[in-house]
Amino acid sequence: LDATGSNFDNQDHEVDRALRPLSFDDFAGQSHVLENLQVFVKAANLRGEALDHTLFHGPPGLGKTTLAHILANELQTGIKITSGPVIDKPGDLAGLLTNLEPRDVLFIDEIHRLSSVVEEYLYSAMEDFKIDIMIESGPNARSVEINLNPFTLVGATTRSGLLTAPMRARFGISSRLEYYSTELLSGIILRSGSILGVSITTDSAIEIAGRSRGTPRIANALLRRVRDFAQIKGNGKIDMEISKYSLKALNVDAFGLDDMDNKILLTIIDKFKGGPVGLTTLATAVSENAETIEEVYEPFLIQQGFINRTPRGREVTDSAYKHLGKLRESKQKG
Ligand code: ADP
Repeated sequence: LDATGSNFDNQDHEVDRALRPLSFDDFAGQSHVLENLQVFVKAANLRGEALDHTLFHGPPGLGKTTLAHILANELQTGIKITSGPVIDKPGDLAGLLTNLEPRDVLFIDEIHRLSSVVEEYLYSAMEDFKIDIMIESGPNARSVEINLNPFTLVGATTRSGLLTAPMRARFGISSRLEYYSTELLSGIILRSGSILGVSITTDSAIEIAGRSRGTPRIANALLRRVRDFAQIKGNGKIDMEISKYSLKALNVDAFGLDDMDNKILLTIIDKFKGGPVGLTTLATAVSENAETIEEVYEPFLIQQGFINRTPRGREVTDSAYKHLGKLRESKQKG
């Protein structure tokens, strides 16, 4: 299990789909985002128009894809799903766009990873619902403009900072998803438990929730693993005892930090005297890719107050020393 909670096998993917909320009512938390979306969807439905293009940003596993599906359900339209790195050339996109029914949702995950040609091709589609396509080849090759059905582009990104300004400007709606409270996550775990048909006590749901890095995907992933332990090492029911046993076996600590989180903190403390250390240097030292550290691990460590981002690099805080039971070497005072 890694910090994205996403290293599942196929069966887990199926379970994941079963646990996915399908409507605004099933979706827990992010109430500010949800309240606004409900208004915009209602208005679009009333007018029979496509919803404005919508961007979701925030760390992985917080519900961006889920919300794209919910939007399509609430708009009672179809949804086509793709992702930034998958679309090689404008032609790939043209195929998708020309197949959209009126008001359909086109979901592009990792939209910050679209190539610049593809991105530019998308502009006129988003703005005027028109694209140019090339027909024939050789000396007869020419481009013709074709009209698209009005559609809603829903983009998701973990790195809104990497989105170009013209792209960002084309989204009428932009929402940032936040980490979830333990209370919300325990509600999600109880809901998932009932869908999976496993009995789970409220206190153990809270225990698992508190170690889920504020992330529903991780909460569900931990629940599935604890269920495995309960079935094999316990009596099938999830209580506090089997939860604690499982979380220990999974190396998830009291704050929900996993091996890589702790490795990052320990490395900054042991090898860089607590920092500051630059991202690339840190990435090399822990053998993880810099982008993953920045997108997946660091936001949570910052939110929990274990790391500070300074102009000179990353620094660990006193809480990180305390959490790892380390003593900070006293700084030389001038
Ligand atoms: P993202 O696209 O942001 O990476 P997903 O939408 O794939 O995240 O969400 C991951 C999983 O977490 C989903 O399968 C869903 O079961 C669960 N989930 C996400 N948000 C919520 C929520 N607000 N309430 C209940 N479950 C959620």
